[in-house]
Amino acid sequence: MNNIYGVTLEELERYFLDKNNKKFKAVQVFDWVYKKGINSFDDMRNVSKETINMLKQDFYFGKLKIIDKKEDVDVSKYLFELDDNEKVEAVVMYHDYGTSICISTQVGCNMGCKFCESGRLKKVRNLKTYEMVLQILMVGKDISKKITHIVLMGIGEPFDNYDNVIKFIDIVNSGKGLDIGSRHITVSTCGIVPKIKEFANFDKQVNLAISLHAPTNEIRDSIMNINKVYKIEEIIDAVKYYINKTNRRVTFEYIMLKDINDSKECALKLSSLLKGINCYVNLIPYNETSHIEYKKSSKDSILAFYDVLKKNNIGVTIRREFGSKVNAACGQLRSHYLEV
Ligand code: SAH
Repeated sequence: MNNIYGVTLEELERYFLDKNNKKFKAVQVFDWVYKKGINSFDDMRNVSKETINMLKQDFYFGKLKIIDKKEDVDVSKYLFELDDNEKVEAVVMYHDYGTSICISTQVGCNMGCKFCESGRLKKVRNLKTYEMVLQILMVGKDISKKITHIVLMGIGEPFDNYDNVIKFIDIVNSGKGLDIGSRHITVSTCGIVPKIKEFANFDKQVNLAISLHAPTNEIRDSIMNINKVYKIEEIIDAVKYYINKTNRRVTFEYIMLKDINDSKECALKLSSLLKGINCYVNLIPYNETSHIEYKKSSKDSILAFYDVLKKNNIGVTIRREFGSKVNAACGQLRSHYLEV
């Protein structure tokens, strides 16, 4: 039995063909499941009883349980329980350009970034494709609003769960499914070099964000374990390869950590590292957490850092702060809940 939310349109077409059925039935099923939002095969009114019975033998409608929800003015955070009682989070943010959701890709994370709550709790398992799709469907239903943007920046490292993430993008991007434009989908990675290269050959125009957070290997080594495996130079090479192949602009995320990576000298080093690369830098005010001793940079040092990048012609934005009241930083609600 397969969860219907984990099947791509192409897989469903193949399923019908293998059963000597017409492949357009897959489009009908997608239409009911994603456009009309039913959650029982019996509700598919233009589909024959025979087909419905066949589908029931091979597929089921899985669910996630929403076990906690915290709301603020412009952000709500959801805690889900999965079938095996594991927990993950999703955050929905209301912008003037639409509604975005930040979803989790793994239960816990093994990347071990020292400033991140998710990484304190080691990876238990990868999320299945349907568990990612369901985060979107269930939140969409709960807020009664169309979700227009997706970022894969919740708990987990998307490129450590590559195949399921690619299938997930296929399903939510499908014009017959949720139809969320590929340019409205952003995958964020801590810098798994071989997967950045593989992603360069993915045929959808999805945005790529790299969690760089430091301009030198020395600083990056001290805050991100992954830098022991893939050095900054290798990441930059992979990004150049990606840009060459896709012609797309890449985002570098840079968390501003007080006295760690927020000096003007760091800003200058970052400017020369990124010079000539089709990219922009997103400066992220650090969301402090009670278990970790890093502090957020002052507004003044963030602005001074911003100015240095600007003067050096590096595109730069400062991320608006969302949801510190609702523990919106990566992994905070889950770890609060687990009390670890
Ligand atoms: N593993 C992926 C995606 C999940 S983390 C990655 O590393 O990109 C998503 C982003 O949130 C990353 O840039 C991460 O470094 C950042 N982040 C983690 N903890 C944070 C915190 N407390 N405050 C602000 N940003 C944080």
